[in-house]
Amino acid sequence: MAAGHPLDAPGSGAPPLNPLPGALEAWFASLQQACRLEVERGFGDLMGRHETFSSFVARNLEAPPPDLTPDAVRSLAPLAASFSRYRLEELGRRQHLLRQLRQGLHQVRVQSRPALPVAPPRLRLLNSPGGLETDGSPPPRGSRSSLPASSPYAIASPSGSRGSAEQSRPLQASTPLAEVPGIGPRTATQLAGLGLLVVGDLIAHYPRDYLDYANLVRIAALVPGRTATLVATVRRCHAFSSPRNPNLSILELHLQDITGRLRVSRFFAGRRFSSPGWLKSQQRQFPPGTTVAVSGLVKESSYGPAFSDPLLEVLESAGAPVRSPLIGRLVPVYGLTEGLRAETLRKAVQAVLPHLERWSDPLPEDLRLRLALLPRQQALRGIHQPTDQADLQASRRRLVFDEFLLLQLGLAQRRHKLRQRPAPPLDPPPGGSDLVGQLRTILPFPFTGAQDRVLAEIRHDLARPQPMARLLQGDVGSGKTVVALAALLCAIEAGCQGALMAPTEVLAEQHLAKLAHWLPQLHVSCALLTGSTPARRRRELLQDLINGQLQILVGTHALLEDPVQFARLGLVVVDEQHRFGVRQRNRLLAKGLQPHLLTMTATPIPRTLALSVHGDLDVSQIDELPPGRTPIRTRLLRSGERQEAWELVREQVALGQRAYVVLPLVEDSEKLDLRSAVEEHRHLADEVFVDLQVGLLHGRLSSEAKQAAIGAFARGESQVLVSTTVVEVGVDVPEASVMVIEHAERFGLAQLHQLRGRVGRGAAASHCLLLHGGNNAEARQRLEVLVRSTDGFEIAEMDLRLRGPGQVLGTKQSGLPDLALASLTDDADLLELARQEAQALVLQDPALEAHPGLHQALRDQRQRQLEAARLN
Ligand code: ADP
Ligand code: MG
Repeated sequence: MAAGHPLDAPGSGAPPLNPLPGALEAWFASLQQACRLEVERGFGDLMGRHETFSSFVARNLEAPPPDLTPDAVRSLAPLAASFSRYRLEELGRRQHLLRQLRQGLHQVRVQSRPALPVAPPRLRLLNSPGGLETDGSPPPRGSRSSLPASSPYAIASPSGSRGSAEQSRPLQASTPLAEVPGIGPRTATQLAGLGLLVVGDLIAHYPRDYLDYANLVRIAALVPGRTATLVATVRRCHAFSSPRNPNLSILELHLQDITGRLRVSRFFAGRRFSSPGWLKSQQRQFPPGTTVAVSGLVKESSYGPAFSDPLLEVLESAGAPVRSPLIGRLVPVYGLTEGLRAETLRKAVQAVLPHLERWSDPLPEDLRLRLALLPRQQALRGIHQPTDQADLQASRRRLVFDEFLLLQLGLAQRRHKLRQRPAPPLDPPPGGSDLVGQLRTILPFPFTGAQDRVLAEIRHDLARPQPMARLLQGDVGSGKTVVALAALLCAIEAGCQGALMAPTEVLAEQHLAKLAHWLPQLHVSCALLTGSTPARRRRELLQDLINGQLQILVGTHALLEDPVQFARLGLVVVDEQHRFGVRQRNRLLAKGLQPHLLTMTATPIPRTLALSVHGDLDVSQIDELPPGRTPIRTRLLRSGERQEAWELVREQVALGQRAYVVLPLVEDSEKLDLRSAVEEHRHLADEVFVDLQVGLLHGRLSSEAKQAAIGAFARGESQVLVSTTVVEVGVDVPEASVMVIEHAERFGLAQLHQLRGRVGRGAAASHCLLLHGGNNAEARQRLEVLVRSTDGFEIAEMDLRLRGPGQVLGTKQSGLPDLALASLTDDADLLELARQEAQALVLQDPALEAHPGLHQALRDQRQRQLEAARLN
């Protein structure tokens, strides 16, 4: 079942009424989960592990579980047909189909339940312009749960059988919305279209924004573009149907206060509002002399400032307090879709909120009080119905804390578990051959202070019997590779083997080339294993690994997919990856291995993001570049100014240097990439640099062709290398001093910084030229960050701010937690707080046995992630 926030999980509460057969329930759940993911990923027809979202849906609808009634099966058939064409539809139509699917599933599901004793009560509210079929209007604040029987809001009990016992049954987070008193079947169906199926979903559907009606103003002081609330007297009132459109009715009020006059209109769409009776009833509500409160967005009109479609409320007297639950304060604004009125959603939320009071708070009371956090129930009410800004902020603080806490608890537990399993201590024996010391003597340079420090941190971890899980962040060119090599030597000296994995074959080959330069002098054996290793050679290598002859294996990340067996694997180094995924780690475990792990990345990510995504890792940072590097000069050029770029390339080549020309990766369109790279190459080779050799490098080339292109460039046989982002990682040619990046605006800042790191590796002054479209001021501003700063961490911080965490991490390997409210840029302090508390909780009570609420919440969250991963 799609549930709302895991902290509001039903826990030990009563099971939902009338459960469906397990297989059917699972079928609904998997479809609903698929819908949720598809919406979250922007309707792109998500590619799952085996099939696309649309084919998954079509297949499931065509062959539903046998428990489904024939009627239901029939009603799903047209949807199945629609989804087999989903791929071909444009965005709007896809959104529409998804809404239909969700609603269709909801209805079939409701029908499949064994009948409820009574239909939920329904009430028509007099004077409700929307003609809602539910009694949505809430009681005034403060009298929520104790309505007098005579209250106009009291729920009619059509047959009497839904009596007090029924009403006292508390709503659970898992209660279907259709069973909530005050939410009618039509509203429930509409909500299902938004993916809101149970009470928890609705509660977790937080407002997108708030209209601040809190400040009362006079007519003369209205400012167009702002929201405002005013109290004024009715001079005249008109209700009429539009002369041009019979389906549109208009209520027009002429108001005044001591400072001026104002016209207010409200529009009612729908034939039912054009009946003379209804129009009269509207007019009767606002007789001249009545005092009204008006709240809404002020617009500029030809008559001066005006309200259009504001909230209106008749006041008993000019001095009477504003009575409406909406007027005069912060009104929530929700993300909606067509066919669902804002008021309908607000009222549905209001129907649910009073029931929260009985929910328990999963947070330990002492912790909550110590951190001055609101009770969760109160915070949920406050986020949906804040009394004022202070209430809203306090509520948000509690809910953001919860999101971070859950995330950090999960990470703290993972870290705890990881440390439980033993790993071989890799402490080189005293009086041994001191391989690391020998390495230092053969390197042509001394380690930087930062390299020394980081190596000490790593060695400290390696010496312990718990497996290391460390992330090494360091800017491009900061010298991570030799640090990794030193760590690998520790493993070898302790009698173990090591593996070094890179994201691409090119990079793996480069690593091997570097290692092969030093390792033979230390009498350590190493070899390369990639997808293109011939079968014969592969067999030999695998054999040498098992019998321990081969000490260091270099390969791509895919190395783990292979049936590779080590004699005694002690350390795995993963280069240029943000994290070594849980899946990969499990794969190692499945081979009976629990080695130490070192992941390295040159794309530093801000601390908040690092703590969220790999809070289970320790982080080391190389924050110092080797001496003798001249900083790279970065300039922005409009596409029209590319002649300047080519001139610079020519100048540099004349000085014996080389240049990269990089083209962006157009996501999901490898063909396009290829074409643009091939075309640019032809253009440059045939028209621009006719006297130079221009090489070409892209992902589709065979491994040999890539190696040949890089080799030629490295040896200076070609002086210009046109490339896709393949060069981003690791290609190391010290003579390259110019990097021209086309369509720079399409890259993330961190990626540009990484690309830029490919030049400036030698002593010569280097240049990075960012070519951009030039029309987009925002893009230009973003690129300016690179001109100003060469600090990878600072750039990463800006990137996060400007593009958000999803973009920064990239969708492919996001591992990003569900954060509905929390912001990784603005809530850093709460994140640190939650992290501390989570670690303290797990340290005391690793399984959270003393905290059943948190325990359950974590389990639910994992369950959801598992479901998501299954479809992924
Ligand atoms: P990255 O951190 O980007 O992986 P590398 O490890 O590839 O960086 O190092 C970049 C270059 O700097 C390499 O040519 C390497 O040999 C050199 N290098 C590494 N450490 C030092 C040092 N302490 N002093 C001088 N040069 C170094
Ligand atoms: Mg590197």
